[in-house]
Amino acid sequence: MTGGPERVILAVHVPGLDGLCVGCRAWWSRLAPYPCWQVEWATSRQARASVARFLGGVR
Ligand SMILES: [Zn+2]
Repeated sequence: MTGGPERVILAVHVPGLDGLCVGCRAWWSRLAPYPCWQVEWATSRQARASVARFLGGVR
């Protein structure tokens, strides 16, 4: 289970109507295509076990 920053990140960093990350624009005034690197990070944190297996084959 997670209760860390990744939950907050996933709640804020959502795709906007224009395909850009809403969280990055609201928090940092940055225009980042979704999924941004923070979403990638949070997602990997939440599914660490399966991601470890995934990364082993892709990277
Ligand atoms: Zn973002």
